[in-house]
Amino acid sequence: MAGEEADDTGFAASWRGGTPLGAPAGKLDRQEKLDQLLSLFDMHVHTNQGSPDSGLTPEEMVEDARRLGLTGIMVTEHDGWPRHDFEAFRRTVDDIVLIRALEVYTPLGHVITMGLEGHVAGYGDSIEVIRTLRREVDKVGGFMILAHPFRFLFDLPHYTQNMLFQDAERIPQSADEAAKHRVFELVDEVEVVNGGNIEVENRFAQEVAAIHGFWGTGGSDAHSLDGLARGVTAFMGDVRGEADMLEALRAGDFAPVESFHVGKPVNYGRASWLKPEMLLGRAARHESAAG
Ligand SMILES: [Zn+2]
Ligand SMILES: [Zn+2]
Repeated sequence: MAGEEADDTGFAASWRGGTPLGAPAGKLDRQEKLDQLLSLFDMHVHTNQGSPDSGLTPEEMVEDARRLGLTGIMVTEHDGWPRHDFEAFRRTVDDIVLIRALEVYTPLGHVITMGLEGHVAGYGDSIEVIRTLRREVDKVGGFMILAHPFRFLFDLPHYTQNMLFQDAERIPQSADEAAKHRVFELVDEVEVVNGGNIEVENRFAQEVAAIHGFWGTGGSDAHSLDGLARGVTAFMGDVRGEADMLEALRAGDFAPVESFHVGKPVNYGRASWLKPEMLLGRAARHESAAG
């Protein structure tokens, strides 16, 4: 931010590439200025358009996103929401940013990918599948987020269904040990707040992500109206579409946040710009709107 003038919120008036913020700063109160610095996305949601196990309609999803005060949603369908249909729906929504993604099943777990049209063929040895996915995502300039990497890891002592560490006898004893898994060298980011996980699974992911220098993303993994925005990701600046999202993800300095949906946001990241009052202010607005 060198060379840019900061206003009384403590931030310069533009973001990274210089995306101008909407309204002239002088006409906004302090809370509005803080709001403008913050884009909040639930980065992991399934609808019935591309996820057979979801009962959530796109219309319900958008309405709840409005109620919650989200900037947008990354729709991470299991089977993919066909692009043409997605774009047709997206054009009907002008106040909530919708980003199309795919949650790919691999032998090493679930990977949220941006840029792919459908599942990539080529299954073999487990890490090879991730390498194939990496190549395909790179071809289209996309992005890969390892979703809920430690789900079920702590269902011990005799049994684990975790997909990274499938042998209950050889469960990693520390985050350092878990971080040595090769999958972390092949993804761009790691989801550290997942609304369907238990606390210890998310915190372990947070530790491993920190070891690798990932910022960590947050999403609800909602399949219904229950728990949308339980996990969100906070970006500094105005993220208005897929290109902005890719730029913001690559730039880093974003933060995973838990329990935004109940007005008690907890920041699990290390982005120093994100102040509690920014999250609380946004959450309070949906509380008061809900009456
Ligand atoms: Zn998943
Ligand atoms: Zn999911």
